[in-house]
Amino acid sequence: MDASWGIAVIGSGPAGFYSAGELFRQESFSIKVDMFDRLPTPFGLVRGGVAPDHQKIKSVTKIYSRIAENPNFRFFGNVEFGRDIFQSDLLDHYDAVIYSVGSPADRALGVPGEDLSGSHSATEFVAWYNGHPDFSNHKFDLSVKNAFVIGMGNVALDVARILAKTPEELAATDIAGYALEALRESQLENIWLVGRRGPLQAAFTPSEAREFLELREAEAVVEGGPLELDTESQKILETEAGKDTKKNIEILKQISEREASVKKKRVHFLFLASPVEISGEGKVEKISMVRNQLVRRDDGSLRPQATEKKIEEDAGLVFRSIGYLGKPLADLPFDHKSGTIPNECGQVKDPENGNSFRCREYVAGWIKRGPSGVIGTNKQDSVETVHRMLETFQAEKMEPGQYITVPDIVSLLESRKIEYVSFADWKLLDAHETEAGQAEGRPRLKLTSIAEMLEIIRQKR
Ligand SMILES: Cc1cc2nc3c(=O)[nH]c(=O)nc-3n(C[C@H](O)[C@H](O)[C@H](O)COP(=O)(O)OP(=O)(O)OC[C@H]3O[C@@H](n4cnc5c(N)ncnc54)[C@H](O)[C@@H]3O)c2cc1C
Repeated sequence: MDASWGIAVIGSGPAGFYSAGELFRQESFSIKVDMFDRLPTPFGLVRGGVAPDHQKIKSVTKIYSRIAENPNFRFFGNVEFGRDIFQSDLLDHYDAVIYSVGSPADRALGVPGEDLSGSHSATEFVAWYNGHPDFSNHKFDLSVKNAFVIGMGNVALDVARILAKTPEELAATDIAGYALEALRESQLENIWLVGRRGPLQAAFTPSEAREFLELREAEAVVEGGPLELDTESQKILETEAGKDTKKNIEILKQISEREASVKKKRVHFLFLASPVEISGEGKVEKISMVRNQLVRRDDGSLRPQATEKKIEEDAGLVFRSIGYLGKPLADLPFDHKSGTIPNECGQVKDPENGNSFRCREYVAGWIKRGPSGVIGTNKQDSVETVHRMLETFQAEKMEPGQYITVPDIVSLLESRKIEYVSFADWKLLDAHETEAGQAEGRPRLKLTSIAEMLEIIRQKR
């Protein structure tokens, strides 16, 4: 038996790659990593979430590609946990498993009319414009005039910015070809960003907000005129607010004090409002909202509370962007409230079994801690998981290969006729996409169907 530890990593997003990187950094353990992803393409939300006009951020994939060059690393794309391989397979083939599958679902608003045609999750829209194969056939009616994005985090701002940009601005990005064509025909005039709390509590970062000062054909406005903070908020700004909040307020002030222009589109920042109903005959036509006020709770936190004041606006599209949510995985415990797999420092625990720890199963990234933080946050998170795993191996006096009953996963995948994609295969696809993009002055032209991706790989091998 090989004296290396065999670790399976499920999911090739930032958390999966940071976990693999940390495993390879260990000097006192010889470790082999097999990484699986349900898509033929690696990198999770870096490919399918990060906005196409934020190419610099996507260059983090160079670090992941270097990790993939380690001779002890193998990638098996187009292999889905829960469809192609299962927990028992992994526990037969590996010493331990790290699940880093992210949070692919979204939180609902819980208001009437949310299911009307024209009401979507930001998750769907983001995945659509980024060419995620599961969403490439979705349709968004961009012939309407008014779109409402509910939420004030960075994802909400991404959605509003993509809707506000001109086709020329978007053409320099790797936005999916069909999305570029659909947005070219967009008739949108007003894009509203709706936050239930005030400007001080907005969850976006200053760099995202600043981009609204630079849009070519869209003017950003803060609803209600020049930004003036009430006495309580002003006091918080001066005493408690962090650096980013202060910068956000400066940017919002700049936005709110600018002279009106004749740009074609407007992006409205609407604070202290919550949707209460979406209505229309078979499709979204109106959105009703209440104005909120902030009240201080016993624990000192400021919470939005509905007032009597109502707002009703014509709406053709609504995007809810109030948080991503994890999905349960077969044979693993799941906390439906937080949308995460119960764990301590990344080690899976069974709430239904006296919170006992599973010695061979771990989690990292969004499925471990919930959908928060930037790409880099997943590094520290994955490091914690890997160290917990190695400490457990030592504490439990585990030996490499002790539980492994079948030597290699490849024969299992072949016996199940799964057409898996290696990292070398992905590089062929990557070269194909970037070459096709260069011909059009774009970073890449994404393939957006799995069948097409597999066909190109077969041709190029
Ligand atoms: C719209 C959006 C924009 C963002 N923009 C930025 C940004 O600009 N800058 C920044 O720093 N952060 C950004 N983030 C945050 C960042 O993307 C996340 O912190 C990070 O991707 C989370 O990493 P993860 O590995 O946990 O999950 P993910 O990146 O979601 O990766 C999970 C992987 O698991 C795979 N998977 C899922 N289920 C299975 C299964 N059953 N079997 C096999 N594989 C499976 C998925 O295909 C995916 O590849 C953004 C997030 C979103 C949603």
